[in-house]
Amino acid sequence: MSTTTTNKTVLKGGEFLVKETPFNQVYTKNEITEEQTMFGQTAADFINNRVFPNIQKIDKQDPALTIALMQESAELGLLGASVPEEFGGMGVDVATDTVINEEMGKGHSFAASYAAHTGIGTLPILYYGTEKQKADYLPGLVDGSIKAAYCLTEPGSGSDALGAKSKAVLSEDGKHYVLNGQKMWITNGGFADIFTVFAKIDGDKFTGFIVDAKSEGISLGSEEDKLGIKGSSTRQVFFNNVLVPVENVLGEIGKGHKIAFNVLNIGRYKLCVLALGGSKKSCSNAVKYANERIQFNVPISSFGAIKHKLAEMAIKIYACEAATYRTAGLLDDMISDLAAKGTDKVQAKLIAAEEYSIECAILKVFGSEVLDYVVDETVQVYGGTGFSEEYPAARSYRDARINRIFEGTNEINRLLSVGMLVKKAMKGEVDLFTPAMAVQKELMSVPDFGADSSDDYFAAEKKALKNAKKAILMTAGAGVQKFAQAFEKEQEIIMDISDMLIEVFVSESLLLRTEKLVSIKGAEACALEIDITKTYLSDAFERIQISGKHAVSSFNDGDVLRVMLSGLRRFTKYDAVNTVATRRRIADKLIADNQYSI
Ligand SMILES: Cc1cc2nc3c(=O)[nH]c(=O)nc-3n(C[C@H](O)[C@H](O)[C@H](O)COP(=O)(O)OP(=O)(O)OC[C@H]3O[C@@H](n4cnc5c(N)ncnc54)[C@H](O)[C@@H]3O)c2cc1C
Repeated sequence: MSTTTTNKTVLKGGEFLVKETPFNQVYTKNEITEEQTMFGQTAADFINNRVFPNIQKIDKQDPALTIALMQESAELGLLGASVPEEFGGMGVDVATDTVINEEMGKGHSFAASYAAHTGIGTLPILYYGTEKQKADYLPGLVDGSIKAAYCLTEPGSGSDALGAKSKAVLSEDGKHYVLNGQKMWITNGGFADIFTVFAKIDGDKFTGFIVDAKSEGISLGSEEDKLGIKGSSTRQVFFNNVLVPVENVLGEIGKGHKIAFNVLNIGRYKLCVLALGGSKKSCSNAVKYANERIQFNVPISSFGAIKHKLAEMAIKIYACEAATYRTAGLLDDMISDLAAKGTDKVQAKLIAAEEYSIECAILKVFGSEVLDYVVDETVQVYGGTGFSEEYPAARSYRDARINRIFEGTNEINRLLSVGMLVKKAMKGEVDLFTPAMAVQKELMSVPDFGADSSDDYFAAEKKALKNAKKAILMTAGAGVQKFAQAFEKEQEIIMDISDMLIEVFVSESLLLRTEKLVSIKGAEACALEIDITKTYLSDAFERIQISGKHAVSSFNDGDVLRVMLSGLRRFTKYDAVNTVATRRRIADKLIADNQYSI
C-alpha cells in the first residue's frame, strides 16, 4: 500500500518502477519560494565573496583559513540549516536545505569540509544522540565552536565498512571504553574537535562513539596528498588506548551499522545536491569561455561540436535537478505525514531517508556522474587552458572525481539500488511480481505499434516510459528467475539493471517536471524544457535498450534470447527526435544568457 497524505498519494521507495505519479504531485525546483531563494542567495554570496577569492589559498591547505570560513558560514546559519531550532539551527525542510546545498556545492575543497561537518559530522549525533549528547554537542556544531569528523573507513575496510578492526573494550571500573584502532581518509581530521568513531565491542558489536579529539592516545597521520579537493583536510587517525567515557556511546551497542548506513542515505542525497551545484557552476564557466574564445574569427560557441557539449551538459543538469527536487518532495511529504501523526521530526527524516534509500542511491550515482561529465567537457571546451591551473576548469575536473568514490562508491550504490529493490519485492513491500508476470505474458502477445490517439501532449513519452519500466521488469525478472539466490553474485547484470533503473527514475522525473510546467505555462512557453525532455528521453531509451541487451544476452540464447531482444526493442521504442536541432536550440539559450540559465 502506498502511504496517503492529506491530499495526495505518496509512492513508497522504489515504487516508481511499477506505479505512475501524476505530474501535479511531483515537487519541482520551479516551485521554490522567495524565502527559499533568499536562503540560497545567502549561501551563494558566501561562496562567491568569501570562498572564491580565497580558493587558491584554501587549495594550498590552510586549516586556519578553512576554520575561519567555517566560522563565518556558521554566523550566517549555514552550519545548522537542517538542525532543529532548539539546538540553535534553522530547522529548514529538505527542499530548503537542497537550495542551500546546491550553492555550497560550488565551493570546491571548502564544500567538502563543510559537507563533512554538516553531514556525516553532525547527523550521527542529531539522529542517534541521547538528549544530553545532543544538548552537549549540537549547539557547538551549529555555531562553529565544535568542528566534526566521521571515522568509519580503515585501511582494511572501505566499502566493507563492517569489516572494521578497531576495538573498544570496557575498562575494569566500567567507566570507559578503551579504544584502539586506525581510521583512514578522515575528512576534517586535521582540525576536528570531535570524531564519530566506529569500533567493535567484544570483537563483534559494531558501535558508534563520540570521541573528543584532544583525548590522550589520539594521533594524526600527515595530510594526504590528494588528486583533488586538495584544500580539505584528510588524515589518518590513530587511537591508542584512548579512554572514551561510557556515556559517549552513540546509539545502541552493536547497532553502529544503523548509524553508519542511515546517515549515508541522507549523505547520498546531499552529495547529489552538492554535485548539482558544482555542475551548474562548471557549465556556466564553459559557456562563458566558449563565448569569449575566438578561433577561425568566431567565438567557439558558434561551432556545432561545442554547442553539442554545452547542450548536453544542460540537459543532464536539468534532468538531475528534476530527480533531485522530486526526491526532496518525497522526503518532505513523508516527514510532514509522519510528523502530523506524532513522530518526532528528526526521527521522521531518518525514516523517510531509509524509505527512499533506493532513490538516494540512484541520485548519488547520477549526480556524481553528471558532474564528472560536465567537468570533463568543460576542460575540453577550454582546450589548452583547460589544462592550466590558471583557469577554473582544471580545479573543477580534479575536485569532481572524489564524488564517485565516497559516500559508498558508485559500484556499491548501483549494487544497493537493485539489491534493495529486490529485497523489498521479496518482503512484499513493493509488488514487482505481478507486473513482472504481466510483462512476461505481454512478451508472447502481438506487439501494439499503433499510434497513440490520446490528445495528451506527452502521450508518446508516457507510453514509452511505461514500456521502459517493462524492459527493467523483464530483464530483472528473468535474471532473478534464472539465478535465484545466486542473483546477487551476478554483478555485471545488476550493474546493467541499475543503469536502466537510474535512466527510468531520471527520465520520469524530468518528464513529470516538464509536464507540470507545461500545465502551468502552456507548451509554447516551455519549448526549451520540452526540447530537453525529448532529447534526454530519446537517448535514455536507447541506453536502456543497450543495458538490457548486455544483461539478457549473458544468460539466454536461441529463441528465448530472440524473444527478449525483440521485447527490449519493443519496450524502448520512441519516435526519432531531431536531437541536433533540439541541442542547438538549448545551446543557443545558454550562449545568449552567457551561463547555465535553465
Ligand atoms: C578524499 C576522501 C575523503 C574521505 N572522507 C572520509 C571520511 O570523512 N570518513 C570516512 O569514514 N571515510 C572517508 N573516506 C573513505 C571513503 O568512504 C572510501 O574511500 C570509500 O568508501 C571506498 O573505500 P576504499 O577506498 O577502501 O575502496 P575499496 O572498498 O577497496 O574499493 C575499491 C574498488 O572496489 C570496488 N568494490 C569494493 N567492494 C566491492 C563489491 N562488493 N562489489 C563490487 N565492487 C566492489 C569499489 O567500488 C572500488 O571501485 C574518504 C575517502 C577519500 C578518498
